[in-house]
Formats: sequence, C-alpha cells, structure tokens
Amino acid sequence: MTDILIIGGGIAGISAAARLAPHGQVTLLEAEDQLAYHASGRSAAVFLEFYGNPVVRALNAASAAHLHKADGGVTKPRDFFLIGKPEEDERFHAQAADLGAARIGLEEARARVPILDPETCGFVGHCAAFDIDTDLYIQNFRRSALAHGAQIVTRAPVQAIKRAYGRWRAETPQGGYGADVVIDAAGPWADTVAGMAGVAPLGLQPYRRSMARIPAPGGHDVRGWPFMDGVGDTWYAKPDAGSLIVSPQEEHPMDAHDAWADDMVLAEGLARYEEMVTEPVTRVEANWAGLRTFAPDRALVIGEAPEAAGFFWLAGQGGYGFQTAAAASQLLADLVLGRVPDLPGAVVRALDPGRFG
Ligand SMILES: Cc1cc2nc3c(=O)[nH]c(=O)nc-3n(C[C@H](O)[C@H](O)[C@H](O)COP(=O)(O)OP(=O)(O)OC[C@H]3O[C@@H](n4cnc5c(N)ncnc54)[C@H](O)[C@@H]3O)c2cc1C
Repeated sequence: MTDILIIGGGIAGISAAARLAPHGQVTLLEAEDQLAYHASGRSAAVFLEFYGNPVVRALNAASAAHLHKADGGVTKPRDFFLIGKPEEDERFHAQAADLGAARIGLEEARARVPILDPETCGFVGHCAAFDIDTDLYIQNFRRSALAHGAQIVTRAPVQAIKRAYGRWRAETPQGGYGADVVIDAAGPWADTVAGMAGVAPLGLQPYRRSMARIPAPGGHDVRGWPFMDGVGDTWYAKPDAGSLIVSPQEEHPMDAHDAWADDMVLAEGLARYEEMVTEPVTRVEANWAGLRTFAPDRALVIGEAPEAAGFFWLAGQGGYGFQTAAAASQLLADLVLGRVPDLPGAVVRALDPGRFG
C-alpha cells in the first residue's frame, strides 16, 4: 500500500486526505493544534460559479455537484447583488456580463435590502450564488478520511524533508514520517515546504484579506439578504449568523504568517460600504484576516513536481479554495493514483506545476 504524506490541514489537505485514504495509508501533518486554523477558518464561505479565471471556473463547475449533493450537500442558495455607483456604468456592465448578472431596478433591490442608498446605488445586478457550510464540508472530508484509516496529526510542523532510497521522510517535533508520496497542501507556506524537499518554489504569493462583523444594520433581519459586492472589488457584505460581515476586499501581498486585520484598511473598506447604504456602521463586533495565496497566473497548482518524483503540489487556491476543493482534490487523487482525470486535458495541463517551466 502506498504511504502518502499530506502536509497542511486546511481544506486542500483535508479534501486530499479523504480522496486518497481509500487507496493508501494517508498521514496528514498539520502545524497548528487544530485543522483549518488559517485561511480555511477565515473565508467568506461563498460559492460563485463565475468567479476566477477560466481554469478556476472549470474547477468551480466540476465541484458544483459534489458541493450541492455529496453527504446531503453543504450549500444553501444565496442571491448575489453586484452594486455600482451612477458613474460606474461601464465597469458595472463589464463585471455584470462577466458574472452573468442581470440588471434589476433599484426599487426591486431595495425591496430585498431596504438600506441600499438610492443616491449612490446607480446599478444593481443579480445572479445566483450559494453559502457553503465550510465547517460541515471540512468535517465531512475529515470523517471520510478517518473512516478509511487516515491518521491526522496536529501540532506537527514539518521542519525538514529528505529523500532517500526512493522514499520521502518528513521530520516534525513529534518524530519522523516516511512516505512514497508527499502532497504539499501548505497554503501560504507551500513554496517553503517545497524548498525543504529541494523542489523549486513556484512564486506563490499570499495576499491578506480582512473582514469585520457588524451588527445587523438598523436592526433589520438580514438573514435572507443577498451577498452584496461593490463594483471593482471595493467591498463586499454578507449575512452571517444574524450579523453582516463586511470585507474591504483588499489584496495586500504579505509573507506567510498568522494574518490579522489592519485597522485602517478595515475602516476604509467599511467607509466604502457605508457610502452605499443608509445605515451607519455603529460598532465592529469582531474582525479577522486571512491569506489568499495565488500562483503567478492565478490558477491552482495541482500535480507532480517535474523535478521530484512523488512530490505533488496542491496549492495556489487563492480566493476559491472551498468552491474548487471537490474537483481539485479529485484531480490530485487521479494524478497520484495514475488514473485518467475526469477533467478535460487542457484544464489538467493549465493546472500542472510544469507550466511554469
Ligand atoms: C477573507 C477570505 C475570504 C475567502 N472567501 C472565500 C470564499 O468565499 N469561497 C472560497 O472558496 N474561498 C474563499 N477564500 C479562500 C479560501 O479560504 C482558501 O483558498 C482556502 O482556505 C485555502 O486552503 P488551504 O488548505 O490551501 O490553505 P490553509 O487553510 O491556509 O491551510 C494550509 C495549512 O498548512 C499548514 N502548514 C503550513 N506549513 C506547514 C508545515 N511546515 N507543516 C505542517 N503544516 C503546515 C498551515 O498551518 C495551514 O493550516 C477566502 C479566503 C479569505 C482569507
């Protein structure tokens, strides 16, 4: 039986563990004392099929059925409003066309979200999206991996990786782990982990994104409100457990670290949101930030490193790690197990780490 070592216990690593555990002896090593502590515990938990470049969209589409149906499904419908100012006519229409959003009248939009400011909201576009129950999604993958005999080890930061006699060996403070195959699912640290194994980094770049939770504006029941997105990725807001979460949608390059929100960035983002609504932000209940890690071409990186047999990348999930996880982990498993992938060849090649030369 193949010994498979997965480094990283976010959605990428956990989904890979679930896919591979029926076919090999899987050990997942996570540096923190819990799974999904970093980006995977801090997302907006949205599925938007027409989000990302064409390669990402192919993964979104291929993941949809699993998200909606597997284990009873982990999604719930959530309308999506794209909102632009009167002077953003051109940008609104370009973005709406890209998302497949149909323009609706302001009165119709205000019937759903009474706080939309008629002075500043010039355009509203509508399309379908979904909330993802990310906790349940992670638990489903975790349960499935464990049921097939996977071992999940937390507090196990991999500090060195060696290759000897055709096998890999990863060292952690809890001891060493040998394997035939290593999966690098270390999110913002994926290049660092590759470097430990003597695999050339891909130039993955983590970008911080912050979030604030504010009380329901004006005491409204916000639970059925849509996800609202400011044209040009300037802010977004989404109902969350009776409150609203608002993001400045910043994309600030950072080194890999345990991210936190920048007060000034949050304040500026909240101001951009406030400009579009009639209710002021009275209080921030909580805030946080996470790192969205992109490859240079903004597609995920899935496949065997050309220079290191048995070392597989599962990285560069960017802002789509949950909505792509089903298809990404399936492709990874197909490649590790030598099966013909379900995804079209052009998509598989566009995800291959070898594309960077
Ligand atoms: C604010 C925000 C909003 C988002 N919204 C959405 C959304 O709506 N929909 C969506 O699909 N995606 C969204 N994302 C993106 C999504 O959260 C990420 O793409 C996804 O969580 C990445 O998962 P991951 O497993 O690759 O990385 P991570 O969750 O970061 O996991 C990597 C893990 O590797 C571990 N690790 C690193 N180095 C080592 C080592 N040496 N040894 C052992 N373990 C190690 C880390 O501790 C970490 O737990 C959002 C992200 C942010 C920050």
